[in-house]
Amino acid sequence: RAKQNGRNGISFYRASLSAQASRFVTIGAAIRRALQADEFELVYQPQYCLRTRRVAGVEALVRWRQGGRLVPPSEFIGYAEELGLIDALGEWVLRGACRQLSRWMAEGVPPLRMAVNLSPRQLGSPGLVAMVRQVLAEVDVAPDLLELEITEGALVSSEPEIAIALEALRASGVGIAIDDFGTGYSSLAYLRHLPAGLIKIDKSFLAGVPDEKSAREVVAAIVAMAHALHLGVVAEGVEHEAQADFLARAGCDFAQGWFYGRPMAPERIAALLGSPRQAAR
Ligand code: C2E
Ligand code: MG
Ligand code: MG
Ligand code: MG
Repeated sequence: RAKQNGRNGISFYRASLSAQASRFVTIGAAIRRALQADEFELVYQPQYCLRTRRVAGVEALVRWRQGGRLVPPSEFIGYAEELGLIDALGEWVLRGACRQLSRWMAEGVPPLRMAVNLSPRQLGSPGLVAMVRQVLAEVDVAPDLLELEITEGALVSSEPEIAIALEALRASGVGIAIDDFGTGYSSLAYLRHLPAGLIKIDKSFLAGVPDEKSAREVVAAIVAMAHALHLGVVAEGVEHEAQADFLARAGCDFAQGWFYGRPMAPERIAALLGSPRQAAR
């Protein structure tokens, strides 16, 4: 009887494993096809300067158009990483974002920072730095307008190649931002040695602002710490005016979130920027 159970157990295990494997194969093929067929799209979310109250930059966020549905990155980035497709997808994203930036600049908008998310897997890829330089050269965008966002968690669990890649990117003049800051347990000592110029306070910290005293104090402390380390600070997930007011008073540099604008199509960003050509039409 035990044997029989064991056999059933094994066959069940086999079935679910192969179901999972075939799911991976299916999704992998679909991602490859989508790259060929240009089914990915970029939306852009504005980042506001809290002093000038103007758009200082945008973050490019990828979507997968499946008919009428825009699939969010949480449903496919993980698969792309597991299946070794993230380098191709990441290059597509970077090229698309930089082309868009250069289009806006040709329309006469003031220089704008373009933030692009990098997967930790991309940081481990030997061709990354050359790819970034190549894309920037192709679109003729100044490297300091590009900000690569890397999650804090990815930096902490890092191998030496990651530090080397970050240094090389920095040396090319590209900005580095630490995304989802506060969720990755990095030490102050570690932060001091990263070639980053910005940290992005994770949106989970904003949830209690401004109502909870402890949340206010934590956010203010992160801003103070970042400034002591000569880093700029972006607050993510700003949904309400009271949060924006608190952040401005705390000396936070930039804010991003639904209060300022959801991720949107590039034409809507151009309207927000009030590019001269747009206004003249
Ligand atoms: P992230 O880089 O931290 O991006 C911020 C996420 O928060 C975005 O979700 C954005 O839509 C959402 N968000 C913005 N404002 C608010 C707000 O006020 N409230 C709330 N609740 N959410 C807000 P999205 O676009 O679904 O992206 C999720 C994550 O997927 C990103 O987190 C990033 O880690 C990853 N991702 C997105 N695009 C790319 C990409 O092109 N490449 C890579 N490797 N990862 C990407
Ligand atoms: Mg990001
Ligand atoms: Mg984030
Ligand atoms: Mg995130």
